[in-house]
Amino acid sequence: MKLFYDLHLHSCLSPCGSDDMTPNNLVNMAALLGFQLIAVTDHNACANTEAAVRAGRAAGITVVPGMELCTSEEAHIVCLFPTPAAALAFEQEVARRSPPVRNRPEIFGRQLVLDADDALLREEDRYLLAAADLGAAEAAERVRALGGACFPAHIDREGYSLLSSLGAIPPEPGYRAVEISPRGDFPSLLRDHPELQHLLLLQNSDSHDLAQMPDPQAWVDLPENSAACLLDALNGRFAARWSRPG
Ligand SMILES: [Zn+2]
Ligand SMILES: [Zn+2]
Repeated sequence: MKLFYDLHLHSCLSPCGSDDMTPNNLVNMAALLGFQLIAVTDHNACANTEAAVRAGRAAGITVVPGMELCTSEEAHIVCLFPTPAAALAFEQEVARRSPPVRNRPEIFGRQLVLDADDALLREEDRYLLAAADLGAAEAAERVRALGGACFPAHIDREGYSLLSSLGAIPPEPGYRAVEISPRGDFPSLLRDHPELQHLLLLQNSDSHDLAQMPDPQAWVDLPENSAACLLDALNGRFAARWSRPG
C-alpha cells in the first residue's frame, strides 16, 4: 500500500517546538492533511512518543516512536524505534551521556511531557538541544540493537547536518537512507556528493508547529502500515518502492 509519510516531526517536548504541538494535535493534523505514517522525533528525547502512538491508533494512522539525536559531531540524526519502550531505552542512554545542562524555558522554550489526553505530566528539566557524548557510528549501532533504524537529518542544511559537520557521509554508521529538506536542492546536492546516488533519499518536513505542517508529498509502498514494516524497509530487509524527490 502506498503510504504518505513524514518521519521528522517535533512535539511540544522540543524546546523549539510550539506548545500547540501536543501529541493529539500533531497526530490529528497529520491525519487531516492525509498522512498515513508519521514519526514523532523530539530533540534528544522520546517522552511524548507513547501518547503520540496512542493518538495515532485513535486517528487511524501509524505513529513511529523516534528521536532527533544531536551526536558528538553536532550532527542531527533521526532515530526510529519499533515501540515507545525501545525509544525510551535509547533516551535513557542519551540522557546519561548528555552534559548536565538544565533547560531555561524563558530563553529556550518549554519542554512539555503530556499524557495521551494532552494533560501535562511534567516539564523536562534536561536541556534537550545539547549534543550528547555519543558519536554517529555508535548511535547507529545502539539504535539497531534496539530494533530501530536511523538516518542523517536535513543533510542539505548548513547547521547540524552530517554533511556540514564532516563534509561527507561517513561509511561507518552504515546508513541506507538520508533526509533532505522539503526545499533542498536535490540535483546540486547529488552533483556535489555522488555517493548519495546509492542511498535512499527521504523527504520529511521537520515541522515544529501546526501551521508549518505541509501537504503530503513523499510516499513509500509497504506491504502493511506498521512501524515494524517501515523499519524493515529502512534497514533493507526487503526492497520497498519510495518516491523520488523532484
Ligand atoms: Zn535538526
Ligand atoms: Zn528536527
